[in-house]
Amino acid sequence: MDFIPFDDRDGYIWMDGEFRAWRDAKVHVLTHGLHYASCVFEGERSYGGRIFRSLDHSKRLENSARILDFDLPFTVAEIEAAKAEALEKAGLESAYVRAVAWRGAEKMGLSAQDNTIHLAIAAWEWGDYFDNKMAGIKLTNAQWKRPSPETAPHDAKAAGLYMICTMSKHAAERAGYADALMLDYRGQIAEATGANIFFVRDGVLHTPTPDCFLNGLTRQTVISLAKQRQIEVVERAIMPEELATFSECFITGSAAEVTPVNEIAGQAFRPGEITETLMGDYDDAARGRIDLPE
Ligand code: PMP
Repeated sequence: MDFIPFDDRDGYIWMDGEFRAWRDAKVHVLTHGLHYASCVFEGERSYGGRIFRSLDHSKRLENSARILDFDLPFTVAEIEAAKAEALEKAGLESAYVRAVAWRGAEKMGLSAQDNTIHLAIAAWEWGDYFDNKMAGIKLTNAQWKRPSPETAPHDAKAAGLYMICTMSKHAAERAGYADALMLDYRGQIAEATGANIFFVRDGVLHTPTPDCFLNGLTRQTVISLAKQRQIEVVERAIMPEELATFSECFITGSAAEVTPVNEIAGQAFRPGEITETLMGDYDDAARGRIDLPE
C-alpha cells in the first residue's frame, strides 16, 4: 500500500466538542448521514498556521447545514476555535482541514427530525490536489450533469451532491485523465468535479455563472484578484462549442488552489500569463502576503 488509510492514522480528531484518538473517531453503521446523505462538509487549507478564509468556510458549513434542515450544535465562533485547536494539536502549519457535520443514528428512515447532529474536524498534511499540478492537468467530459437548482440545493456543500462527482472522476481517471468537466442540465459548462473553472480569451477571464453549482470561495478570491489586476472578468453562460476559442484554462478550489488545465477532451490550452499571474496572486493571498479586497 503506498498510502496511509484515513481510518488508521496517529493523532487526534476533534469530534463533538472533544479530541478523540484518530482511530477512535468513529460513527455507527446505522448513521443517518451515511444512508441518506444528511451530511455537509468543508475542505480548507491552512498556510503557515492560518486557515485561508477560515471564517467564510465555517459560515458556509453552517449555511449548508441549514439548507439541509439542520442546525449545527456549535456556533461559528466555536467552530473557528475548534479548527485552530485541531491544527495546533496536530502540530501542523500547512494542512488540509476537513470539517464535517452529519445526522446521527437515533432514527433510521427518511424522517430524522430529532436525530443528534454531530460535528468533526480533522487536519492532515496534504500536498497538491493533482499530481504534477504545475504542468497542467487534462480533463475529459463527464457523463453526469450538474442538476438544476430546482433539483438539488447547489449552494450547500452537501455530501449527496458528490455522488455524480466521484462517478465522473472515476470514469475520467480510468480513461487516463486527471478530472472531468461537468456540463449542467442545460448543456452549459459548469465546473470540474471538485473545483470551479475559468477560461481566458484575448486577455479577458470568462467563467460560468454559478447558478447551479457551488460559487467556490477560491473562485470568488480569484475574481477579486483578477479585478485588482485590472483583468476583465465575465461571468456568463459558456457553451462547450466555445472551448476552441479560449487560449488558457484553469480550475480553482480550496484543495486544487489554481490549477492550470492543458487539455479538455482533445482541445488544447496553453497555461499563459494570466493563469500564472493568478496562481502567484492566489498563493500570495493565501499566505497573507497580499490583502484581499473587500
Ligand atoms: N465545486 C465543487 C463541486 C467543489 O467540491 C469545490 C470545492 N469545495 C468547489 C467547487 C470550489 O469551492 P471552494 O473554492 O470554496 O473550495
